[in-house]
Amino acid sequence: MYSDVVFVDALDQDALQHSSTLGLTKREGEVLTQRADGRSIAEIARVLAVEPRTVKFHLQNIYAKLGTRERSQVARQLALTRYARARDRTADDDTGRIAATRLLAPPAPSSVLFRPDRKLTHVLRHNRFTLSAEMLPPRNGAEQSAVLGQVAQLVDAGAHFLAVTKGAGGSLRGGSLPIAQAIKERFGVPAIAHFTCRDLVAEEVENQLVDHHYFGIRNILALRGDPPDGLPEWLPRAGGYNYAYQLIEQIRRLNEGHYLVRRGGPSSGGQEPADFCIGAAAYPEHPDPQQGLAYFKRKVDAGAHFAITQMVFDADAYGRFLDRCERAGLGIPVLPGTRILRSRAQATKTAEKFGVSVPPGMRRTLPAALQTPEDPDATERGLECFLRLVERLRVLGAPGVHIFITHTPTAWAALTRLIDHPPGVAPVPVARHRG
Ligand code: FAD
Repeated sequence: MYSDVVFVDALDQDALQHSSTLGLTKREGEVLTQRADGRSIAEIARVLAVEPRTVKFHLQNIYAKLGTRERSQVARQLALTRYARARDRTADDDTGRIAATRLLAPPAPSSVLFRPDRKLTHVLRHNRFTLSAEMLPPRNGAEQSAVLGQVAQLVDAGAHFLAVTKGAGGSLRGGSLPIAQAIKERFGVPAIAHFTCRDLVAEEVENQLVDHHYFGIRNILALRGDPPDGLPEWLPRAGGYNYAYQLIEQIRRLNEGHYLVRRGGPSSGGQEPADFCIGAAAYPEHPDPQQGLAYFKRKVDAGAHFAITQMVFDADAYGRFLDRCERAGLGIPVLPGTRILRSRAQATKTAEKFGVSVPPGMRRTLPAALQTPEDPDATERGLECFLRLVERLRVLGAPGVHIFITHTPTAWAALTRLIDHPPGVAPVPVARHRG
């Protein structure tokens, strides 16, 4: 373990010495500093008052000057992370050089190995309109490389943050914590780890949350969790939780320094408070709007700081939900989730499965079914619907849009178009479908 850390330090030295002798221009230096601090291309463009494509151009030069021969996003993010670590460790060194003794220094403290993530509330506050996506962890026992490649594509497209589901569909697979951790450490963008409680008792919830905290995960989407597929009559374990608001309450109590009292352990009070940013699921199209709102209010009262909605295709349904929240005095940001539908068949299936509505205009724009898995015409029509939806959501007051990914190339194309043409600033180009 110790030798691993020294090896990483040695890599970092290479990266720093390399970058300092490679003649970055002043502007490249500014872009590199911001990117290494985890800012998205859109954020950097805004800070430097340039077009996102200008930032992308500078980044290409920077990666070349950092000696990143490989063009993959994983390699590029690794170069940035190495640069940032080396820079952070020399911040106190006037000469800007790394003291030779640092090679022999003891391992960095855990706060450096696992940096606390930026909180979602902060990210939402500091961006005019966020772009983000929700992805699945690898299947049980599968390699991480495909998922990390997917992360790299989404980060490259300009995602401000990414969320990782937990056992969606009722399966019990893991992977959310390590992938969320990799997203924030290796790719420099904030991550949300979904956390489901339907199979856990309070002690297990606390153990897992403490592990998340050690790894620097700060954004938790607190969920009850899907019942196992085919078991709609599922009941929680004895001592387990029925509802997400109970999980949210437990996380809030950890934030207040109240841990469970366990036999032989310290008393509840006086322990180090956790520092989680707590998210909750919201359902704008709950079959009983008033009851749905009351359930949502319970989660906000329990301590939720932000919410992500069930997928929305009808922007007005989202707008009505925001109105209900406002009337009830619920002031937390509610980020609309959505999927990019590419056929009417998908629309029907999704609407039935998740109890959401797909407006007739959207259905008319989509082809009946996909001709091939890639089907460029269906992708283009799907993007057209998506981009119109996003514009309407923004007008209704959405703080951003969160894409539930079903097809990574389509999600990439959607993010790229939105980054180059932010909603409300310039018209987003859509290739109008024929007929
Ligand atoms: P809750 O809000 O607790 O709702 C659970 C049930 O209880 C619902 O039927 C609700 O109507 C009812 N209810 C809620 N509050 C009360 C109350 N106070 N009194 C009485 N009844 C109440 N599932 C996964 O397994 N993994 C994931 O990663 C995942 N990610 C998701 C992400 C988003 C953005 C959303 C919207 C859903 C996600 N889900 C996920 C699905 C979600 O976990 C399921 O829909 C689950 O059935 C409900 O979880 P919840 O957190 O909304 O629970």
